[in-house]
Amino acid sequence: MSISPLMPVYPRCDVRPVRGDHCHLISEDGTRYLDFAAGIAVNLLGHSHPTLIGALQKQAETLMHVSNLYGSPQGEALAQRLVDHTFADTVFFTNSGAEAVEAAIKTARAYHQHEGNEQRFELITFNNAFHGRTMATISASSQEKMHKGFMPLLPGFKYVDFNDLEGVKAAIGPNTAGFLVEPIQGEGGIRPATQEFMKGLRDLADEHDLMLVLDEVQCGVARTGTLYAYEQYGIEPDIMATAKGIGGGFPLGACLATEKAARGMGFGSHGSTYGGNPFAMAAGMAVLDTVANDEFLGQVTATGERLRSRLEQFIGNYPELFEGVRGKGLMLGLKMKVEPRPFMQHLRDKHQLLTVAAGDNTLRLLPPLIIGDAEIDEFFDKLSKGANDYPMPESD
Ligand SMILES: *Cc1c(COP(=O)(O)O)cnc(C)c1O
Repeated sequence: MSISPLMPVYPRCDVRPVRGDHCHLISEDGTRYLDFAAGIAVNLLGHSHPTLIGALQKQAETLMHVSNLYGSPQGEALAQRLVDHTFADTVFFTNSGAEAVEAAIKTARAYHQHEGNEQRFELITFNNAFHGRTMATISASSQEKMHKGFMPLLPGFKYVDFNDLEGVKAAIGPNTAGFLVEPIQGEGGIRPATQEFMKGLRDLADEHDLMLVLDEVQCGVARTGTLYAYEQYGIEPDIMATAKGIGGGFPLGACLATEKAARGMGFGSHGSTYGGNPFAMAAGMAVLDTVANDEFLGQVTATGERLRSRLEQFIGNYPELFEGVRGKGLMLGLKMKVEPRPFMQHLRDKHQLLTVAAGDNTLRLLPPLIIGDAEIDEFFDKLSKGANDYPMPESD
């Protein structure tokens, strides 16, 4: 037997965390890492936040799981909270981001089928997008590396260049059901949609009765300084997927929709055994209690601006390594002139700094949202040492 017990789909590195402490991870061998990856934008309260721990301990002792066959005071409370804070009128809870996007795709299709427009099943999606790893969500992505070995894809997706409104207009046809878009592409390299693009999609959706579906799985839940990134574009979606940060580390996602968009989602149309169980609801409620207020969000914005302006200054000293800084709030990307993956590994293995490589030659910085000046100072200490002793790849 040569296959590992853990199915070998991830090339795992030698960092083997066994404990978390605020913004640090401690490895099996005792090494401490500064965590500017946060489980890929998940641990927004860091690793040992007393509010989250307390809420989960209490709920574990009270009631962890019941079926969705029964009434859910816990689910009603969290759904109400999300409805109060967003564009949405109704919420379906999931256990992951991909499931939240799946629910969003089904909701968009069901809207048109409920209206008697069976031919309108196609979502326009965008090059270099990432929506998850299920069959529908890989089909929604143009990235061929995710398709390989899993053909055929599901029909019903058409890819257009991100931020290309003319391309979108040209792609709209009798089969179009709507648009599925990340306001800030995450895996694609921290690429924010332009204001004109988001506004243009909203206008096109209104004009053609299409569903504007946002994937805020990575950029949502306070990461960009507003509870959801769409708020900064001055538009509202019809449907939105959220996950990653919303459980603060507990697996939780949700599909949010307006009453109109959810028309097709009646009794029996969708479901999940675990989705929205009391334990997950306790995690989501503890996270929203902490982040969904002006003080916390203002703090994220201010911290993001401090980090960003220091980054802008910093990269000026290393013009051979870095090209620019992009993103919003604490979802930041360093656009590099060299491959970001070996640099990420160098920072990790030589300087105990965790970051995430992304597409478009970008190094992602996704720290816990609770970082302060001490963590920012430590980050720059490690980053500058890492930039100074990075063995530049040979150029030919
Ligand atoms: C991570 C991510 C997903 C998938 O979430 P999973 O929890 O891994 O299924 C979907 N969309 C975006 C934008 C993501 O960043």
